Amino acid sequence: MRIVLFGAPGSGKGTQAHRLLEESGAPQIATGDLLRGAVAAGTELGKKAKAAMDAGDLVADELVVGMIRERLKEPDAEYGFILDGFPRSLAQAEALDQMLDDMGRPLQKVIHLKVDDDEIVNRLLARGRADDTEATIRHRLEVFHKQTEPLLDYYDEQGKLATVEGVGEIDDIHRRINAALPDEA
Ligand code: AMP
Repeated sequence: MRIVLFGAPGSGKGTQAHRLLEESGAPQIATGDLLRGAVAAGTELGKKAKAAMDAGDLVADELVVGMIRERLKEPDAEYGFILDGFPRSLAQAEALDQMLDDMGRPLQKVIHLKVDDDEIVNRLLARGRADDTEATIRHRLEVFHKQTEPLLDYYDEQGKLATVEGVGEIDDIHRRINAALPDEA
């Protein structure tokens, strides 16, 4: 399968990507995890990304796109992938389409996990990661609405968008996602 799990921070993308990975073996590629790894390892990329991450802003498109380009070349991504937290801007979505077209492996589906803002804030405060204060959560939601949500129209126009209710039991949400996946995925 070649899919994007799309949703606000805290919408459950990571949890659901993990469930899909268990079933399909397609790797979960989470740009947030890759970036946190780069920061922890003190790489050039990590140094450049850190300030934006701490502020809850998007890391520059060219950095994230370059990172994904390298990741998609790794052998485990050859037969599929579950993108989690990428793309987050129109420029990233266009770069991804270009990359996948060049590889002859276009995206099959974008699954939108729909969760409202108040539910997100409650979930993220309960999760308690270092960058999860109420102010940064609100800011990250604002960034999501302004810069990332417009991608819904982009993928809808391509006929690739499926919206799934992201509230409820993890198993039920997983079943809704599976029902929305194309047969070939
Ligand atoms: P996440 O774990 O997905 O919530 O990502 C944590 C932080 O990493 C975000 O708040 C951004 O600062 C950064 N980040 C992750 N993915 C992207 C992306 N696709 N584009 C830009 N910044 C990103």
